Amino acid sequence: MSISLQQGAFIIAGLLFILALAGLSKHETSKRGNILGSIGMAVALIITVLATLLGVKSGGMAVTEALPIWGVAAILVPMALGAIIGVFRALRVEMTGMPELIALFHSFVGLAAVLVGWVSYLEGPPATNAGLHYGELFVGVFIGAVTFTGSIIAYLKLSAKMKSAPLALPHHNLLNLAAIIAFVGLTVWFVILPASHHVTAAGEAGGGSTGIVLLAVMTGIALLLGLHLVAAIGGGDMPVVVSMLNSYSGWAAAAAGFTLGNDLLIITGALVGSSGAYLSYIMCKAMNRSFISVIMGGFGSDGAVVGEAKDYGEHRETTAPEVADLLKNASSVIIAPGYGMAVAQAQGAVADLTSKLRTRGIDVRFAIHPVAGRLPGHMNVLLAEAKVPYDIVFEMDEINEDFSATDVVLVIGANDTVNPAALDDPSSPIAGMPVLHVWEAGQVIIFKRSMATGYAGVQNPLFFNENSAMLFGDAKVRVEDIIHNL
Ligand code: NDP
Repeated sequence: MSISLQQGAFIIAGLLFILALAGLSKHETSKRGNILGSIGMAVALIITVLATLLGVKSGGMAVTEALPIWGVAAILVPMALGAIIGVFRALRVEMTGMPELIALFHSFVGLAAVLVGWVSYLEGPPATNAGLHYGELFVGVFIGAVTFTGSIIAYLKLSAKMKSAPLALPHHNLLNLAAIIAFVGLTVWFVILPASHHVTAAGEAGGGSTGIVLLAVMTGIALLLGLHLVAAIGGGDMPVVVSMLNSYSGWAAAAAGFTLGNDLLIITGALVGSSGAYLSYIMCKAMNRSFISVIMGGFGSDGAVVGEAKDYGEHRETTAPEVADLLKNASSVIIAPGYGMAVAQAQGAVADLTSKLRTRGIDVRFAIHPVAGRLPGHMNVLLAEAKVPYDIVFEMDEINEDFSATDVVLVIGANDTVNPAALDDPSSPIAGMPVLHVWEAGQVIIFKRSMATGYAGVQNPLFFNENSAMLFGDAKVRVEDIIHNL
């Protein structure tokens, strides 16, 4: 394959990725963005695999050699296996299982970056610029290892296999700081190490194998740092961590691109890294959290843990026929969906209820909290899938002032995102997080199965307000009951 064909294809794929990101930033264009990104990835994969198998030529001279037959098998067999497992998982995953699956995928990117760095080191130094090569390799393995273990902890927390409360080790900020200082020191040492202490060009360890030891020690520190950074983050801050790990996985891929000399991997990694970092920044702003504090594993926080259960008095229960009557007499309704709507797969029923109420002339709108559900944009995706018109779906800041002039609010499987304790109780683990002011409406109906807490594990005083009533049961079943009674 000629080098110009490879580079031309890389430029096209890079442009498609940029167009994909632009498309994904709006509801209306997100499908197109997704398709463009998939085409870009297909181009990138096909060209990279062909270039690896056939070798690349420039002006008739070989830049890289074609692979022998065992090399072809060594690439195609694992790729086929990976593709089968990927398709199998993608077909079976529930929408509610997406966040943990994504976290798991991030961990694979991190692991791949670690392996690329290690293999590249064991192959020996390049003919030129060995110092630069060692520097980028060391940093790549560090970011990859932090991403790997951090994402595994995120996977365990998101899939509820590990409790979401923050781990507060004594002096946890100092531990993080010590790990970062050790990393910087080891990087300098590794880069200035005389060539004879590194693996030689023949792939053998040089004097005393110091390079391998430094790389191994740093890998161990980075693996522990990844574990600690994410374990120290509380449930309420997990959304930022997911997008932050997304960003880290991008930088890990970019570092692997430098090590492998693959320009497209550098571009793609940088796009993922910077867009993930920007998303984390936006989410931190929306949640009133310090960006630095969250990426440093709760740095600066006092390690607050889930508060004691308080006595807020009695809650009131209601029934589907009562809610149907309430809705018939309302002129304005706001629906605040949350993670429970995703669990119940209630979005279709909610869309039906919405259109039934609108045909009766009732004004129905949706209020979307930036971290409702378990993924950025989770609720928007579900509502779009159920064909709820975009023009009645509002972000928190656009609608928060309208609750006081609203007759009825239906809180469908939301909990932390409508918890007034975030504003009223400075000792709450979610203190300071902006929430939907649903309690300001005339009547608030809360759809959930029990009095259990939400993801952050904090009690919700909203459930005990005089204008609140609980409609217990699976959200989809209850919404269908209401439609039946309308
Ligand atoms: P929560 O997780 O706070 O609460 C969801 C509620 O849904 C639960 O209290 C549960 O109560 C109820 N529920 C569950 N299943 C059903 C069902 N089948 N029918 C009816 N109700 C059901 O949800 P929110 O969306 O309000 O908040 C999201 C939380 O997740 C925040 O803490 C956020 O920080 C965190 N998070 C968000 C991420 C994101 O990117 N959006 C990523 C990671 C974490 P019950 O069991 O009683 O039914």
